[in-house]
Amino acid sequence: MSQIALITGASKGIGAAISLQLAKDGYNIWLNYRSDDEGAEKVAAAIRAKGQECTLLKFDVADEEAAENVLGPLLEKEVPYIVVNNAGFARDSIMMMMDSNDWNSVLQVHLNGFFNVTKPVVSRMLRKRTGRIINIASTSGETGVAGQTNYCAAKAGLIGATRSLAMEVAKRNILVNAVTPGFIETDMLSKLPVDQIKAQIPLKRLGSPEEVAGVVSFLCSDKASYITGQTIAVNGGIYT
Ligand code: NAP
Repeated sequence: MSQIALITGASKGIGAAISLQLAKDGYNIWLNYRSDDEGAEKVAAAIRAKGQECTLLKFDVADEEAAENVLGPLLEKEVPYIVVNNAGFARDSIMMMMDSNDWNSVLQVHLNGFFNVTKPVVSRMLRKRTGRIINIASTSGETGVAGQTNYCAAKAGLIGATRSLAMEVAKRNILVNAVTPGFIETDMLSKLPVDQIKAQIPLKRLGSPEEVAGVVSFLCSDKASYITGQTIAVNGGIYT
């Protein structure tokens, strides 16, 4: 029977591409999302067309009780081999204009979301002595960006959490890594001046969700069995 990969924020964009790639790699998918039923159903249909199972898990990763209510009963029966913490959004503005809701909601979705989903799974992975955890951070968390104090704090925090958790669970053969995408063509970029951005990227183009998914696939594979606590950039050379 196929092993399971749990991907958060997978109704579209990078999470959808990761889900499809891991289905292609032979995993059954637990697909989390928050609101886009139609998008999630579409991704699920594409996963099933590849011959893998897909279970839709609709909950807000920032809500600890909701995560526990959905994941708890499933984890009594099965433990995913892979968790990809990808769910997230940005609420950009300069700090002088930022309200506490924009600050809190961005930290909550990226950091509390990571905690709420990873903790119940990793405690069971420890008993199985195997697993892979991938956190989708961002180049922003490495460089800092004006107008993104909340998002950069959250993503830098996620990189720190990745390193710490990797050290805690390595002796049980659980590998934890972060991936830092640069500018990837998804809905998240819809309000940004894409032509100006492309000019600043050494490869002179945006990345595709599939290019991020390929790196996640590698980090989940046997080929990456000696890689843990690392942050792997997928950014077209914009930050080295
Ligand atoms: P996207 O196309 O806007 O998709 C975001 C996904 O996250 C959607 O499936 C959305 O679900 C889900 N989501 C948002 N809040 C959620 C919550 N509270 N609980 C559960 N699911 C939630 O964004 P994306 O560009 O693919 O971004 C995916 C990840 O990559 C994010 O963590 C983002 O910060 C990171 N990233 C993106 C870029 C980029 O250039 N695109 C660069 C660096 C890092 P619903 O739509 O169903 O609500």
